[in-house]
Amino acid sequence: MIYSDFNLKPLNTFGLETKAKTLISIDNESDLIEINDTSLSERNLILGGGSNTVFVNDYFDGTILLIRNKGINLVHEDEETVILDAFSGEVWNDVVSFCAEKGWWGIENLAAVHGNVGAVAVQNIGAYGAELKECFVECLTYSPLKKEWKTYLNKDLDFGYRYSIFKNQKELEIIWKVRLRLSKKMKINDSYAAIRDKIIEENLIISSPLDMVNLVTKVRNSKLPDPRVLGNCGSFFKNPIVSESHFELLKKEYPSIPSYAAKDGVKLAAGWLIEQCGYKGKRIGNVGMHEKQALIMVNFGNAKGEEILNLAFEIEKSVKNIFNVELEKEVHIIL
Ligand SMILES: Cc1cc2nc3c(=O)[nH]c(=O)nc-3n(C[C@H](O)[C@H](O)[C@H](O)COP(=O)(O)OP(=O)(O)OC[C@H]3O[C@@H](n4cnc5c(N)ncnc54)[C@H](O)[C@@H]3O)c2cc1C
Repeated sequence: MIYSDFNLKPLNTFGLETKAKTLISIDNESDLIEINDTSLSERNLILGGGSNTVFVNDYFDGTILLIRNKGINLVHEDEETVILDAFSGEVWNDVVSFCAEKGWWGIENLAAVHGNVGAVAVQNIGAYGAELKECFVECLTYSPLKKEWKTYLNKDLDFGYRYSIFKNQKELEIIWKVRLRLSKKMKINDSYAAIRDKIIEENLIISSPLDMVNLVTKVRNSKLPDPRVLGNCGSFFKNPIVSESHFELLKKEYPSIPSYAAKDGVKLAAGWLIEQCGYKGKRIGNVGMHEKQALIMVNFGNAKGEEILNLAFEIEKSVKNIFNVELEKEVHIIL
């Protein structure tokens, strides 16, 4: 189905008032194959659940490709392993629940991450000590301009922290389905302190992936704003990675600075840096940084693109001035 002047407010969790000149709803393979040069515009944007997409203008003068194909197919099963395909329009958390209920381990720590399957590989979603790349096998994509299907293996995507080659894609390439490898063997991932502490504190016994899903969901709900109540896209910025020498200097000046080992340096907590700059719980007009998590920008209602960009810029400048650290946006800003 093709729609004109389509209201995108219900399709972005920041709750921004915006419309698209054209929206194409892609529910199945024939909808996909039918896309052609005339249905596309000069500007095209693929949209899933809109939980990482911030529309800073009130009109998107182009075509939105809304991916809504459904299905979860078992590809292989043996005594230890399960391989399944999840189609891009499935809600990610539904796939997590489906697998957890079957007793399959691997994605339970990624429970309650918003959005759809198609986007999970885009930024290698991560939470509570787990990342998608650990169970991602491959994905199938379709290029509507080249009319070409392509399979990308895990190694092709150059997965990193909130990164894959799809994160800043220049060519229009739709992820159609994602293949995951899960385990039937118990594999508790309690590497994340907040999870470990909760297990000890509440004397919990985790004996199934469903137990972990319930725990992670509870912890998340206690900390993160619900977009249905307060518009947001989760972390607005990525946690920055600095060199060892830069970290040593910061540590001298700020002994309590939280840090984590990273592949190419030391990872800092962007939320902590933003909090030190005085932005935790600070509201400017219709936007602000959440009172419990300074990394999350929230929409108090009627937020305007300009307000979002101004606050983001102010924070970036402040963190740079105080810590000499560059923040990079995690959200996809649509100008
Ligand atoms: C409260 C809250 C908490 C969050 N917590 C986390 C967290 O813990 N960890 C985490 O990693 N993220 C988190 N996020 C961010 C978000 O949930 C993820 O990035 C999610 O994967 C986005 O999915 P989506 O379908 O909503 O993507 P969208 O916002 O629709 O799209 C995101 C990007 O992916 C592209 N895209 C979407 N679908 C496809 C497709 N089929 N093919 C090709 N490209 C596509 C879009 O063009 C866009 O660039 C959180 C968000 C919220 C609101």
